[in-house]
Amino acid sequence: MLYQRSSQLFADAEKVIPGGVNSPVRAFKAVGGTPIFVKSAKGAYLYDEDGNRLIDYINSWGPMILGHAFEPVVQAVIEKAKLGTSFGMPTELETKIAALAVAMVPNIDKIRFVNSGTEACMSAIRLARGFTKRDKIIKFAGCYHGHSDSFLIQAGSGAITFGSPNSPGVTAGTAKDTLLANYNDLENVKTLIEANKNEIAAIIVEPVAGNMGCIPPVKGFLECLRTLCTENGILLIFDEVMTGFRLAKGGVQELFNINADIVCFGKVIGGGLPVGAFAARAEIMNYLAPLGPVYQAGTLSGNPLAMAAGLAMLQTLNEDTEIFQRLADKTAYLAAGIDKVLKANNVVFTINTIGSMISVHFDASPVVDLKTAANGDNETFKKFFHGLLQEGIYIAPSAYETWFITDALTYKDLDFTIQAINRVSKTF
Ligand SMILES: *Cc1c(COP(=O)(O)O)cnc(C)c1O
Repeated sequence: MLYQRSSQLFADAEKVIPGGVNSPVRAFKAVGGTPIFVKSAKGAYLYDEDGNRLIDYINSWGPMILGHAFEPVVQAVIEKAKLGTSFGMPTELETKIAALAVAMVPNIDKIRFVNSGTEACMSAIRLARGFTKRDKIIKFAGCYHGHSDSFLIQAGSGAITFGSPNSPGVTAGTAKDTLLANYNDLENVKTLIEANKNEIAAIIVEPVAGNMGCIPPVKGFLECLRTLCTENGILLIFDEVMTGFRLAKGGVQELFNINADIVCFGKVIGGGLPVGAFAARAEIMNYLAPLGPVYQAGTLSGNPLAMAAGLAMLQTLNEDTEIFQRLADKTAYLAAGIDKVLKANNVVFTINTIGSMISVHFDASPVVDLKTAANGDNETFKKFFHGLLQEGIYIAPSAYETWFITDALTYKDLDFTIQAINRVSKTF
């Protein structure tokens, strides 16, 4: 397959957009080459500017769980657009989607809509700090909570030391309030809590990690975080921007029957439009302005087009009682197929999956945290990625990403993918 026009479009973009992209993960920095420019998408397929059709396993990094250009979502947006695209005033639609979200997700009374997952997590942390009157937070290495300053913290020099910012522009003052722990490592968390008694406002976690590959929590991890938080007056924040409305109707809280204090949403909740949200029980949410002292606002928050898309999406997920099982079945089928062909070709690998999330790591040992995720062989991944691209299959251009299975994928698509992986892995 040729990607000539994409290359040209990328060269044009680079002149006026930093790195040619509006979000760094879209660039092909980790794999080499130039990004594919999309013209349109429908169902499980992307159609690019060179006229290629690609089977899509990124799905806009999560939102398109029902496939691209899902008809009820598209129709809802078209109908709403005719009535005006933004008012900066309340609409009935906002109450409808809020009520549906509150009904679908366990343990939340109220929800506020914002414009991205970043905004949701940033606001959730501010709310937690305001509510507990404490400053520090614990986050886990390799968990992504958007690009606000407090979260751009990676490895400090040890578990108890303060994190150091991993982006210039994040001040040392901000970084010192973010404590870093290893995913799936409870001892690490206990030590941090002990060393910062009565200072920690919140623990924020991806309850199933999806931004270092797909890493489910080990047994007892989330349960113990819940207990530690309750015992120490710390709020537990589940960042379900990736997992919310994906792993179950009510997200990971429902899946593992564990209650968080604040839950963040994004991606699926907007049906492909820019939407984020955060939610909690009333006692916490009433701390927000205009009821309470914690300020949070947005000119385009609750935008009618975005709410219409989100509502159509959530209604479909709410009414289709079999969707999550169907997605999990397809994922398991794909995982089993990949497992078989990679073994047959003597490739060293690990596959992680849960629900409609799957990741393939080119390393033999279990992938349970950032350190083990980083063990994967990147040279093999590059060959894998470009090989699949030539086969007309699009996975994320980074070995650290989860693939997303959509309802639009057919078993024929999955079989084609497995056979393509068989061909590509013979060239490693
Ligand atoms: C994508 C993501 C975010 C950030 O959401 P944006 O809409 O990109 O700002 C936050 N948390 C998690 C878990 C995510 O996967």
